[in-house]
Amino acid sequence: MKIENDIPNKEKEEEPYLGFEQGPIRPPSEAFSLLIRITRNCPWNRCAFCPVYKGSHFSIRPVEHVLKDIDQIVRSISLIDLRFGGDVYAVDKTTLKALLEDTGIEMQAFISAINWYSAGMRSVFLQDANSLVLPTEQLLIVLNRLLQCFPHIQRITSYARAQTIYKKSLDEMIHLKEHGLNRIHIGLESGSDKVLKFMKKGVTKEQHIEAGQKVMKAGIELSEYYMPGLGGKDLWKEHALESADALNQINPTFIRLRTLAIPSNTPLFEEWTSGNFKKCTDEEIIRELVCFIEHLEGINSILKSDHILNLLPEVEGKFPEEKGKMLVVLHDFINLPEYEKLVFQVGRRLGLFERLSDRMNFQKRAIVEQIIQQYSICSDNVDDIINQFMCQML
Ligand code: SF4
Repeated sequence: MKIENDIPNKEKEEEPYLGFEQGPIRPPSEAFSLLIRITRNCPWNRCAFCPVYKGSHFSIRPVEHVLKDIDQIVRSISLIDLRFGGDVYAVDKTTLKALLEDTGIEMQAFISAINWYSAGMRSVFLQDANSLVLPTEQLLIVLNRLLQCFPHIQRITSYARAQTIYKKSLDEMIHLKEHGLNRIHIGLESGSDKVLKFMKKGVTKEQHIEAGQKVMKAGIELSEYYMPGLGGKDLWKEHALESADALNQINPTFIRLRTLAIPSNTPLFEEWTSGNFKKCTDEEIIRELVCFIEHLEGINSILKSDHILNLLPEVEGKFPEEKGKMLVVLHDFINLPEYEKLVFQVGRRLGLFERLSDRMNFQKRAIVEQIIQQYSICSDNVDDIINQFMCQML
């Protein structure tokens, strides 16, 4: 097996073990997974729209430290089983504190273990932004230890940059699959080279396609994230069409929507405020989604809208059979009277509405209409106000 990596060369050698660690984010679909942090932050960290790791330095945790974290989880699970008979609610604070002191298990590790135990211990998510940047042989050590300790695990998932996978061989990806890595999330964001370049994504459409196809060929489930709104008013159509074309060639397991928001701590915020990037309105983004979904063809992916930033979470379904159903929801929004659109936008961003029909919920609607009046929200200012709501959700 030929092994190639784009691992940054400042690997730490003598770093002391700083204790059990968890990173800041995971995909929404990994809410019940055990989080194992094998790198810190993002090795790229240049995407103009991304606030998550700005100002934080990337580092790779020594593998033996990751194994120590796993060991703490193993010992916590034994404690829950043997000392508390599997009843996580029987764990009282005083006994627990003494036990943890005796065993040297950290509280954070124990809490992670309890949460995972309660959720059935089925899945693990490797943090942070791009675990595949680790040399493959090191990643295999972590995967092997996980499967050795928890042979019942059904899914091990990681975020990865397309550029990193592009540089790995198919053999390496197959090897990782054989050792338990069976789902990868990639931020496609866009299939348009113009958009990718402007956003400093560090990857081209062709590299995205090759990386995605490699993951699928290796038999690993693939989620590709598409970012509605990322083309702005100038490039929205190219963004939709090129992204659909890239995804048609990849045919990923999942296409996940994550709508653009522009927090003030991102380079894109400066581009927006200086007029170099023209942000789309909610309605323009919904029209972009119509174009995007209409052009998704010849695939059997599942489209998921499992992010709080998306206006219409009910736009979900399997291709090709549910394509029409998804388009109906989008057109239903577009065809609403202006005031009804406003009510839905505000209700959704307040977290009160999920579905368009939630507007008919009398109590929730009353709250929304009160807020619309209180803050004088109208179609002229709703998008600026909504961006503020959305940034608070990040
Ligand atoms: S690669 Fe991902 S985590 Fe890193 S800056 Fe880009 S979007 Fe953010």
